Amino acid sequence: MNNIVAIVGRPNVGKSTFFNRLIKRRDAIVDSVSGVTRDRNYGKSEWNGKEFSVIDTGGYIVGSDDVFEGEIRRQVELAIDEADAILFVVDVEEGITPMDDTVAKLLRKVTKPVILVVNKVDNAMRAADAVEFYSLGLGEYFTISGMNGSGTGELLDKLVEVL
Ligand code: GDP
Ligand code: MG
Repeated sequence: MNNIVAIVGRPNVGKSTFFNRLIKRRDAIVDSVSGVTRDRNYGKSEWNGKEFSVIDTGGYIVGSDDVFEGEIRRQVELAIDEADAILFVVDVEEGITPMDDTVAKLLRKVTKPVILVVNKVDNAMRAADAVEFYSLGLGEYFTISGMNGSGTGELLDKLVEVL
């Protein structure tokens, strides 16, 4: 299948929340506490007339980043193989964690389009906090709130442009 978009990132950054918004169905299970879900969810979406498939990764990975480092790496490597474009989601509330650095390191080597998405930017005040994510070495980022939808239009414009 063409036009496959994978959403990657460490647990709790808001991947499933954004995925649910994209596919406009309550398919992915969002749970910040127990999070017992399948490890990948697939959905279909469309923007500006362009259709694409979306993979939400790491569904069952919850808990501390270090315990699941190997599993997160595996999900990112799968995504790199499978996807045509990768959305790397980070969390402005938490800032950069060691796991974010690990994922960024894997993604810096990828020749496919990688878009850095700074999530939980629910208001303008938080946008300023996002600048630290430049240090991940992935270039320009998009700030969004998967929760209230702000910024997602600009991100999707960019996504369908690179697909
Ligand atoms: P995942 O583990 O990366 O799939 O993250 P989830 O989508 O399960 O979200 C983890 C937690 O972050 C949940 O409590 C969400 O409600 C919360 N969350 C997700 N997106 C946002 C956002 O844009 N703003 C805020 N404030 N919280 C968010
Ligand atoms: Mg999830």
